[in-house]
Amino acid sequence: MAAPAIASAGRASLGYPAAETARARRNSKIARDEAPSAGTPLPGAARRRPRAVISRYSAWSLARRALTGARWQRAWRAAEPKSSYEVVVIGGGGHGLATAYYLAKNHGIRKVAVLERGYLGSGNVGRNTTLVRSNYQIDGNTQFFEHSLKLWEGLSHELNFNVMLSQRGQVVLAHGPSQLDVLARKGNIMRLNGIDAELLDRGGVMRMLPFLDFSSESRFPIHGGLLQRRAGTVRHDAVAWGYARGADRQGVDVIENCEVTGFLRDGDRITGIETTRGRIGAERTAISVAGHSSRVAALAGLRIPVESHLLQAFVTEPIKPFLDHVVSFGAELFYISQSDKGGLVFGGHIDGFNSYTQRGQFPKVRTVAECAVALIPSISRLRLLRHWAGIQDMTPDGSPFIGRTPLRNLYFNGGWCYQGFKATPAAGWCFAHTIANDEEHPLVRHLALDRFRRGNGHDEYGNGRWTYKQ
Ligand SMILES: Cc1cc2nc3c(=O)[nH]c(=O)nc-3n(C[C@H](O)[C@H](O)[C@H](O)COP(=O)(O)OP(=O)(O)OC[C@H]3O[C@@H](n4cnc5c(N)ncnc54)[C@H](O)[C@@H]3O)c2cc1C
Repeated sequence: MAAPAIASAGRASLGYPAAETARARRNSKIARDEAPSAGTPLPGAARRRPRAVISRYSAWSLARRALTGARWQRAWRAAEPKSSYEVVVIGGGGHGLATAYYLAKNHGIRKVAVLERGYLGSGNVGRNTTLVRSNYQIDGNTQFFEHSLKLWEGLSHELNFNVMLSQRGQVVLAHGPSQLDVLARKGNIMRLNGIDAELLDRGGVMRMLPFLDFSSESRFPIHGGLLQRRAGTVRHDAVAWGYARGADRQGVDVIENCEVTGFLRDGDRITGIETTRGRIGAERTAISVAGHSSRVAALAGLRIPVESHLLQAFVTEPIKPFLDHVVSFGAELFYISQSDKGGLVFGGHIDGFNSYTQRGQFPKVRTVAECAVALIPSISRLRLLRHWAGIQDMTPDGSPFIGRTPLRNLYFNGGWCYQGFKATPAAGWCFAHTIANDEEHPLVRHLALDRFRRGNGHDEYGNGRWTYKQ
């Protein structure tokens, strides 16, 4: 069948990554120049081994350490809580750490603490399936996620930490003519917003992904797909580590094993928090706890429209590379990619009930495996190595919240549903702006906490059931 006439936007025409990279290099230089001193070595250690030196990660510093035996500095200090801060960010996931980093870097606010109840990366930032993209079609969300993808494109340079962005491209499949029409509409909206999108007909998909089931017996015949070449994957733990290191180098205290258990109030103003490591005063407090959003907000007396569900992810035994794109099934919520180690990484829908267990249920394993085999029959004999779950904070319309709350000096970021990882840089960027200025960043004004009361939902779920997820 002939594909509707949208052509490639081409990467070069965007011009953003190069500009972003140059700016990021300048910023990395600032971070290096302002890095704190290396701290005091243990008694006697200096005589035995050269002292660790904070420096940028580079081929030069690698060679220098190889030749001199100098140790690497900890990526971030094991900070102890102080009695008060200008801003306290609750939650050391990707969003909390990015928020602290941009508060310091973009707004010069350095008396900042990030409080994490476990260890960094123990939440969803280290559990997700690593997909990043900006193929959104609701006004507001389109621009926000494109801003995020542009930040991803310069992030390794910005942080001087390789987050392993792999822009391998994502293909969303259409299994019928009407679904291809929906994808054409989405592609055209993306292109009108300056985002790359290419519509593929059946032949185009077959040339790119010949191992999909194109046979006459296929359960869901493939009619075409929408390709975003700049979409891809990012090494998820590296994002937490890179932002933690970047924030730490600007003076932010990253405090692990410190759970927030309550809020200090003076009327309708939040003045600090209670934690398992004592009371901490805060001029401004920011909640960024993903799957625990409703629980933590409730400690401040707020009832927010978020439910916690489990989302599972799966990885198979490693095999030779054959899948060099991210592929999203159009007949169910299912997507698959291949990791650098060779395992196939995939996921699907949330489990259908509320839970905080971080352990998925068997019926979903079965549905996801059925999708995998319907799409790529040749992997039917592969063994699953592992599966795990994270806690997703689901909103009624599939769009998140970033903004002020009814309580003064308390800010909220959450409700990211399936899409919080790809949002990490932009969420941190916009949340930091919101906290620093006590006013929502223009890119997130449509994501206010009271939008349902105003009848102003942003229905990311209703945006073509098959196309809103990875
Ligand atoms: C299996 C799975 C696959 C996913 N795949 C993708 C994907 O491919 N692409 C995508 O864009 N998104 C994906 N997501 C969603 C994405 O991972 C999340 O939306 C995003 O990571 C949430 O933001 P975060 O990184 O800040 O969360 P988290 O890493 O969960 O950070 C929140 C932190 O808050 C801490 N915390 C909670 N309560 C307290 C407290 N009281 N005091 C102190 N700290 C507290 C938690 O311990 C946690 O570390 C996926 C999610 C899952 C579970």
